[in-house]
Amino acid sequence: MPELPEVETVARRLAQVLPGRTIKSVKVLRNKSFQGKPVWLSGKKIENVSRRAKMIRLHITGKRDMLIHLKMTGQLIFMNGEKKIGGGHPTGDWTNDLPSKHTRVIVEFTDKSTLFFNDMRVFGWLKLVDDAQLAVEYGKYGPDVNIEEVTVEYFKKVFANRKMPIKLALMNNSVLSGVGNIYANEALFIARVHPARPANSLTSKEWKNVFQATKKVIDDGIKAGGTTFDGKFVDVSGLAGKYQEKLKVYGRAGKSCPRCGTIIQKMKIGGRGTQYCPHCQK
Ligand SMILES: [Zn+2]
Repeated sequence: MPELPEVETVARRLAQVLPGRTIKSVKVLRNKSFQGKPVWLSGKKIENVSRRAKMIRLHITGKRDMLIHLKMTGQLIFMNGEKKIGGGHPTGDWTNDLPSKHTRVIVEFTDKSTLFFNDMRVFGWLKLVDDAQLAVEYGKYGPDVNIEEVTVEYFKKVFANRKMPIKLALMNNSVLSGVGNIYANEALFIARVHPARPANSLTSKEWKNVFQATKKVIDDGIKAGGTTFDGKFVDVSGLAGKYQEKLKVYGRAGKSCPRCGTIIQKMKIGGRGTQYCPHCQK
């Protein structure tokens, strides 16, 4: 599942190519994937692309914008001639001809370029939203982890009284948006805090370390264009990311800790695979 850095990467790439283009038509191939009236978009221009939580927003002229959630397996691929740009879940659709059997929505522009929404598992969605509906969607999530307003004081305020494992606390999107499984594992390794520690047991110094490490892994993830795991697609330019090369514990159980050489262990916390160094993380 794409996390914040992957979704931010897709939004930034689309922001390079979509603004200024006029929608000719929107073809919905799977009704479950699209909420709203596609015909409303005909003749409208895309003004901007942004991200909030793990949603991508296409700012469109007029009263409604398009909000997109990739969920588990969604992809957004913009095609102009042979050139592809975008991203999301890596599959053969990154390299195969489009549309494919996973294409759920096709946005055609007046200049013959096209935006494909592909989604193997069909959990993702595109939604036309007015300002009130947008506020409802955005209101479901806490502030994005990578904004300035999120400080170490904010971390302490929302997490420090909780008994749950620190890793689960960080991943609670209703109070802090954007820390998923990969980046929570990496942040706690950098902060030297054991992922199962009750949140209310952390010291002030540990909160500072966890806060700084969380910001760092998210920033580094965005700089690297997110994480792409499928080996077949890691070099597909315009669609893949490079953060997988920087992972220190995630996906590395059984290998040695890059800091001390101890074997990385694996456990389940809240049902999610959790990797940590039993020596470095207390
Ligand atoms: Zn270690």
